[in-house]
Amino acid sequence: MRPEILNRYFASASALKGIGAKVEKTLAGLVRPQSGEPGSADLSARLVDLLFHLPVGVIDRRNRPTINNLPPSGIVTIEAEVGRHKAPPRHNKRVPYRVEVFDETGSLPLVFFHSHGPYLERTLPEGETRFISGKIEWYDGTPQIVHPDHVLTAEQFSEMPLLEPVYPLTAGVSGKVLGKAIRQILADIPQLPEWQDAAWIAARKLPEFQTALETLHSPQDTTGLEPDSPARQRLAYDELLANQLALSLVRRHMKRATGRTIKGDGRARQNIIDALPFSLTVSQELAVSEILADMASPDRMLRLLQGDVGSGKTIVGLLAMATSAEAGTQSALMVPTDILARQHIAGIEPLAQAAGLRAAVLTGREKGAVRQQLLDDLASGDIDILVGTHALFQEGVGFADLGLVIIDEQHRFGVHQRLALQSKSKRPSDLLVMTATPIPRTLALTAYGDMDITRLTGKPAGRQPIDTRVMPLEKLDQITDGLERAVAQGKRAYWVCPLVEESDFIDKTAAEARFTSLKTRFGDKVGLVHGRMKGAEKDTVMARFKTGELSILVSTTVIEVGVDVPEASIMIIENAERFGLAQLHQLRGRVGRGSDASSCVLIYDGVLGETAAARLKTMRETEDGFIIAEEDLKLRGSGEVLGTRQSGVASFRLADLGQHGELLQAARDDAKLILETDPHLTGARSEALRIMLYLFERDDAIRLLSAG
Ligand code: ADP
Ligand code: MG
Repeated sequence: MRPEILNRYFASASALKGIGAKVEKTLAGLVRPQSGEPGSADLSARLVDLLFHLPVGVIDRRNRPTINNLPPSGIVTIEAEVGRHKAPPRHNKRVPYRVEVFDETGSLPLVFFHSHGPYLERTLPEGETRFISGKIEWYDGTPQIVHPDHVLTAEQFSEMPLLEPVYPLTAGVSGKVLGKAIRQILADIPQLPEWQDAAWIAARKLPEFQTALETLHSPQDTTGLEPDSPARQRLAYDELLANQLALSLVRRHMKRATGRTIKGDGRARQNIIDALPFSLTVSQELAVSEILADMASPDRMLRLLQGDVGSGKTIVGLLAMATSAEAGTQSALMVPTDILARQHIAGIEPLAQAAGLRAAVLTGREKGAVRQQLLDDLASGDIDILVGTHALFQEGVGFADLGLVIIDEQHRFGVHQRLALQSKSKRPSDLLVMTATPIPRTLALTAYGDMDITRLTGKPAGRQPIDTRVMPLEKLDQITDGLERAVAQGKRAYWVCPLVEESDFIDKTAAEARFTSLKTRFGDKVGLVHGRMKGAEKDTVMARFKTGELSILVSTTVIEVGVDVPEASIMIIENAERFGLAQLHQLRGRVGRGSDASSCVLIYDGVLGETAAARLKTMRETEDGFIIAEEDLKLRGSGEVLGTRQSGVASFRLADLGQHGELLQAARDDAKLILETDPHLTGARSEALRIMLYLFERDDAIRLLSAG
């Protein structure tokens, strides 16, 4: 049960003055971290969510630079005369509305996308003076302000506070409403006990939790928001400690359940190795031996196998499953999609057969008598290796003796799922998680701090580098010309369509439009797959692409995960600027798998923002997933969050892992020490620590504590 003192923190924001039901809903989408996930429609915004919604900047009205003297970045307030309005040509939504403003030293454009002309004419009448606040952005070597935070008359300006926090906003919630709500909360939220080590806090000169929140939400100067400011550090450290303490609890819980010794005689494994058309890389061999050692030890295996797309994780997993079979236990390989399950079984079955093992597939698509037979064979132990989606762990699926669980392409799985999975088996099975998302070390600690980590480095031999280009949408004709030549030479291409919004419906529309337009040129050589198609339909299209009947496969990001068509050598990604680096990297990894030289075209639309430009540059410069991941972390740290949700690694609200890596290490050590000295969290500091865990919603971990 959550401690009573936190009740107020988790009360709905609709209890606040000035927040009605409708605004509360909108707020939830903005501030509640789980929003946007399936089934989150009814989640409300809670006070804690608002408190943790930190400002990203401060409007400083104390001094106002002249236009020729603007700082190179940050939020500024200027006093300027409004000049000419320049509306975009009609029917061209991509061109912004511009308003020139000037003072005696120079002029500066204000830029508005998708804006309403009459409204702008009212708020920015030509010839009048306005006080304008906003973030300086650079375009073509000159500064501009895109969507100013405030445009005020002298009178309105005089009523504003000199320092005002700037929050990330969404349509329907203004900074004013948000600021007021947060000040209201801070005025009467109960004070929480100190959960941090007093000596550590004193040594670092960090404020108390409450004080830190107040400092950030009511800034007294402009530097308080920097990641290294004491207030930010304090809150970041709280969040990181909660994360690391929870993971330590999970790890201890999972490890304490006595594992089992799974040792094979190596025969099935050798048969598989003999049947392979290649030999294992050194890195693969090392990974296999680490995994086998874990399995052979009486402790339960909790291992993460990290390896870039194409690094050959599947065979490593298969050898572990063969070992499990040798020892007389079954294994389950869980993958996120139906397509992948089928693809895996196609690769695994012949190898399993060569070793005298029985492999089968189980997803939501196996129904009726077929399904029943599968379940019977599973329960009797006839099936050694079962591949499937999460249908594997639904009610009614019973193994005779499940020794090993492997989760592939795991980035959609969190600690919660790992725990749920473990409770499925009567006897604790070994767990191997495989992920193709190369995770920077710091992130790996936050998401998989409960696990041991193996990295598969390098790609299998014989792979050629991928020629990557970045091109504007304006060159679409040129790109399709090139594609036509390539197709004439028998090449195969993926064409991935824009992620318009986080909605498969809209994604689908974009992919369909591209499919239709490519069809006029390529006719029957083009196919389409998207997330809303039925499994069987998808399979048919994929199969036609695999056999070469189709030359071009237009898709939404459903192909992101794991699809293997070695003959495909061209990857075209539309609206590449909207994808995160990790995702781009994954997509590009679909090509360059065969012996042909491969290429990747990243198409961007409109004006590239700084971060998007940096992302695409990184893609052009390197194929090393671990470098890309480190870069991604740095760039994301600068505030652009698109793509993080998909990547599934723990998302932090107060900590910025690009900046607070050192704090993470400290939190990790601290968590370890806490549990070493007070294993059941019953000591002096424990009550406060429990409050901290609840505050950061690590309820699962606390439940493990009471479990014994
Ligand atoms: P991923 O790590 O992305 O899951 P896969 O296991 O699907 O990679 O392997 C990618 C491809 O590389 C497969 O076609 C596989 O057969 C092949 N492969 C795996 N290991 C090797 C190796 N040591 N040498 C050559 N090819 C390999
Ligand atoms: Mg794979």
